[in-house]
Amino acid sequence: MPPKGSKKRAADTSAGASQSKSTKTNASTSAGAASEEQQRDPSVEVTGSNEQPNDASNDDSNTEDHEMHEDKIKNDPYTYITNCAPRFEFESRYNKEHEDDDDFDEEKASELWADEHNDRKCACFNKDRTDGWTMMRKAFARKMDAETIEIPQRDQDMFGMYVYNDFTGYGYQEVVENNMAEFNKVLNDKDGKTEELWTILESMAWWIVDEPNAPWHMIDDGERSWLTYSLLGFMLLAALNRMDREGDFKVDSKYKDLSLVLGVWAKAADDLGGDVSDPLDDGKSGSSDMGDYAGFNLLWFRYLLAFAKENSVPIQGVTDVDDKIEEWYSQIDGKVKLPPKKEDRFGWKTKLNKYTKSYGKGGKIGGQEFRIPLWTREKRKKYAFDKKDPLSDEQINALKDGMVLQMM
Ligand SMILES: [Zn+2]
Repeated sequence: MPPKGSKKRAADTSAGASQSKSTKTNASTSAGAASEEQQRDPSVEVTGSNEQPNDASNDDSNTEDHEMHEDKIKNDPYTYITNCAPRFEFESRYNKEHEDDDDFDEEKASELWADEHNDRKCACFNKDRTDGWTMMRKAFARKMDAETIEIPQRDQDMFGMYVYNDFTGYGYQEVVENNMAEFNKVLNDKDGKTEELWTILESMAWWIVDEPNAPWHMIDDGERSWLTYSLLGFMLLAALNRMDREGDFKVDSKYKDLSLVLGVWAKAADDLGGDVSDPLDDGKSGSSDMGDYAGFNLLWFRYLLAFAKENSVPIQGVTDVDDKIEEWYSQIDGKVKLPPKKEDRFGWKTKLNKYTKSYGKGGKIGGQEFRIPLWTREKRKKYAFDKKDPLSDEQINALKDGMVLQMM
């Protein structure tokens, strides 16, 4: 079977849709359905936010703020731009609007979302639309890289391969770890910018919620998963604490998507949370039985609510969260004690070290081990169903030239 294009994956109408509704128990079935759908329909076009809007025009004098050209991303990474809303948000808005309709079709929103992209009607291409999603330019670029390069290049199904059962899940884990490692590097670099940390957090919550990640939730090392889900939130708290120390964790912050991004992380807590005690929980600040939200078992989520409240920063802008946030606040009220204010207030360093000791190699986490296009031909052949290298010479050369993998 031919490998599938990575750009196509982002525009697929069913993959994210089934994922975002899936729970951990039915995750494997929905992932299977998604990849089948991708194989059946290789003709879906490139998606909007993953394409460079107006890329037909190479006139630099006409460069718009929202454009995603390489030099713009490099030289002007922290300007806020608006593209279209994530699929999960589009779906929530649509479903909320139509839930009372007699002939309401839950799958409809997902199709509409893809249609808008493919017809270039979305906010990526039409800046007069008011339903877009605003965040830093580099965050969109990071999200695009994750969804079109980093994650699909570690997906054995995309290459018609079988390495081992959980290979794709551990590949996703490697991408997650690479983001945490980069976060930590920027955090500890004396010239590292808080804005740069923010671009990692803006993008990551989005692709964790939106990108088909069922194989990730299914990996056979549950302890490692739970430590990761917990650590991810402490990464968020480490950045928020730094913002706070710089006077920017507040209403009307210069991070104008602060409330929105907190909303996406609150939604991510639902995806990541569950009926397990948090390995990084010291038991002093509430517990999972504080409310019925899946995310309540995660200490970082409880801290997030309390920390946002402490600084009067609203968590808002994500439809699924807006409906529930007041209830969550009332459920944690008086039960969560935040650590005293200091540089590493939430203990990121110790927590990351704990993870690195258990799962890192040579003191490092992440890497490129799962990235199939970087393997030797022999290795790819060995695991391919048909024992042929799924990549052509042309594709390998394109990759060397920095092209996004587009295999049909
Ligand atoms: Zn779009």
